[in-house]
Amino acid sequence: MERRPVFIITVPHAECLAEHLEAGFHTCDTLAVRAANELSAELVRIGAEVVGPIVGDTNRTVRGDLNRRVSRGSPFRVRVDREIRSAKLPFVLDVHSFDPGSGWDYSGPGEPLLVFLDGRERYGESGIPERIIGYLPRWLAERSSAGGSWKNDIVHAAVGLGARGAVLIEFSEAELGTVDKLREVIAPLSGAIVKI
Ligand SMILES: [Zn+2]
Repeated sequence: MERRPVFIITVPHAECLAEHLEAGFHTCDTLAVRAANELSAELVRIGAEVVGPIVGDTNRTVRGDLNRRVSRGSPFRVRVDREIRSAKLPFVLDVHSFDPGSGWDYSGPGEPLLVFLDGRERYGESGIPERIIGYLPRWLAERSSAGGSWKNDIVHAAVGLGARGAVLIEFSEAELGTVDKLREVIAPLSGAIVKI
């Protein structure tokens, strides 16, 4: 019998500050927990095993960004590390969301719905973001983009801990904020993810 693929889902920027809503700056990923829960449910529905979502409990602007190297050793990162080590060749999905002020949100028709990032030293080094986009239906592939940086420390660290791969996924808060729109994207995204 084929073994079910194991995914570990992390959400490091879940914790908001009250100022988030007032000042209009991005202190947290407002759509990420919802997106992670929908992604988890869909992956399970199509036969995968999911650990998490493991949700960060501190705010990035107050206690340090849980997706940066400096946060290795925090309770959140220790839990993530432990789950990666104890699962059988897991694939890590680090889930985020971006608002219009974050820089992923280009103006015009090319504005992405999803952005995929790896954690390698050089852009595109892992090839994983590009592979996922290659498995997406054309309408969604055309609204997705890829990049990467070693600063994305959860995906950067994952392979060294025993993961078979890892990718950071950014969801557009402006475009995917409704339940229907989010689900429209989650189904094909999950189908692409289980192929990698
Ligand atoms: Zn984030």
